[in-house]
Amino acid sequence: MTRSTSPASSASSEEFDYIIVGAGSAGCVLANRLSASGAHTVLLLEAGPRDTNPWIHVPLGYGLLFRNKTVNWMYQTEPEPGLEGRSVFQPRGKVLGGSSSINGLLYVRGQREDYDRWRQLGNTGWGFDDVLPYFKRAEDQSRGADAYHGAGGPLPVSDWRHPDPLSEAFVEAAAEIGIPTNPDFNGATQEGAGFYQTTSRHGRRASTAVAYLNPARRRPNLRIETAALAQRIVFAEGRAAGVLSSRGGVTRYARARREVLVASGAFNSPKLLQLSGVGPAELLRQHGIDVVHDAPGVGQDLQDHMQVRMVMRCAQTITLNDIINHPLRRVLAGLQYVALRKGPLTIAAGTAGAFFKTDPRLASPDIQIHFIPFSTTKMGDRLHRFPGFTASVCQLRPESRGSVRIRSADPAAPPEIRINYLASETDRTANVEGLKILRTILRAPALQPYVADEVEPGDALTSDADLLAFCRKVGSTIYHPTSTCRMGPDPRAVVDTQLKVRGLDGLRVVDGSVMPSLVSGNTNAPIIMIAEKASEMVLQDAR
Ligand SMILES: Cc1cc2nc3c(=O)[nH]c(=O)nc-3n(C[C@H](O)[C@H](O)[C@H](O)COP(=O)(O)OP(=O)(O)OC[C@H]3O[C@@H](n4cnc5c(N)ncnc54)[C@H](O)[C@@H]3O)c2cc1C
Repeated sequence: MTRSTSPASSASSEEFDYIIVGAGSAGCVLANRLSASGAHTVLLLEAGPRDTNPWIHVPLGYGLLFRNKTVNWMYQTEPEPGLEGRSVFQPRGKVLGGSSSINGLLYVRGQREDYDRWRQLGNTGWGFDDVLPYFKRAEDQSRGADAYHGAGGPLPVSDWRHPDPLSEAFVEAAAEIGIPTNPDFNGATQEGAGFYQTTSRHGRRASTAVAYLNPARRRPNLRIETAALAQRIVFAEGRAAGVLSSRGGVTRYARARREVLVASGAFNSPKLLQLSGVGPAELLRQHGIDVVHDAPGVGQDLQDHMQVRMVMRCAQTITLNDIINHPLRRVLAGLQYVALRKGPLTIAAGTAGAFFKTDPRLASPDIQIHFIPFSTTKMGDRLHRFPGFTASVCQLRPESRGSVRIRSADPAAPPEIRINYLASETDRTANVEGLKILRTILRAPALQPYVADEVEPGDALTSDADLLAFCRKVGSTIYHPTSTCRMGPDPRAVVDTQLKVRGLDGLRVVDGSVMPSLVSGNTNAPIIMIAEKASEMVLQDAR
């Protein structure tokens, strides 16, 4: 059966200047900026619910949202050949704020070199000096404005306010092995060890729904529809004419006077394009979808950060495991949070961290460490009964590439995701060398009062082969899929430097899927930057 591209069965049809599909990190920024002047009407479609789950707003609550299907797409990869054929769990936000409502809150931009590389690849206007103003425009930095930071923007960025001897000892231990202390991973240089800043204010999460959407919510020219799953984009004569969506079993069609902006994230944006007839022709035909535009790159070039966690048994009962597993200490932590918005419940996905090179010949760090004063067998599981802490290795610029492909023409079906972790020799070596350096930090004098023993990988695993086998056994995602609708000048690139989908009119992709290559850090801040820059481009075109 070949499906028509006309919205034949739609009951009602309304018209907006802009239709944004997905209210995640990028979509909420777009909704705010495009509706700000009042001159344009904007429809924001979000498949998930409003962000009323109270755990969304408590930083440590992310552990409880990890496997909560009311706010999470809970995707799984196909069996990963490099990880012993395991399928890797891929959480993604399905709620206002998207993944910024369920993420680990860390505010990290990546390296100057990432963006300069984007520019070198032919993406004019995306070098570091070009994008820095958009990072600053977004930011409300609690330390105040300077050459690298903005103050007064919508997105609060603040220091963690909970003194933690373990995290402090980690930074000291790194210094002991020659990794300098860095007070600002987003300043002049990323290299070094220090404390993470988070997207939060007064101990509450600042998702983009909180930071960008809430202030815009009452604008009469902005319509926000939750529980509305976009099924496909409808095209007329090569132009994105509107979006078909379903809500409560009713299919509706909304027309876009100016543009459709796809902001559904690195898995769902290529999926929506493919469902709409924009993607590899052979895949679309296989599922009976009319080919609107044969775009072989849609869903290709998927990249993700893998993490390999080292778990340590702590010699003192000062870890979060000890607080959460103790009824009285748990209640006290809850009271401390309710009364003061401080304490263990403000812990994000990392307290301290480090960026270092596994090879001195590299121009910039290729490894990021997330240090956290608790431990679990798997992320999202209950905390270990014993006192424990975790430090994970994340290779910053993996060479392995994967794909996202629809499984069927059914918009409700999850896509087929292959990441191909550890497919490249560079990736395997970097992970093994990263583990060795991390182990050296964890064995440095400053941490010795706190280390009882190494639970994972364990002292018995020492050779490179042992450590690689360990990576294959436990490696999982650190939740940064990108580049599935990559920007670039080459024929396989899906969008141009204006983020317009090549070969079609009235259609842009604005989210993590447009990154030409994965940045060397966490992805929320860079995606917010992308949406800030995109909103300016869209508004310029409307003049
Ligand atoms: C558990 C976890 C921890 C993380 N920790 C950090 C961290 O500490 N720091 C950091 O910087 N980054 C972190 N990240 C990554 C970061 O949050 C994401 O990269 C970023 O939020 C992605 O932004 P996006 O706009 O591309 O997509 P998303 O924020 O995922 O937004 C996409 C939105 O589109 C909606 N949508 C999808 N399909 C449709 C459809 N068909 N119709 C309607 N709506 C649709 C989704 O429901 C979602 O709301 C983490 C991510 C996760 C999942």
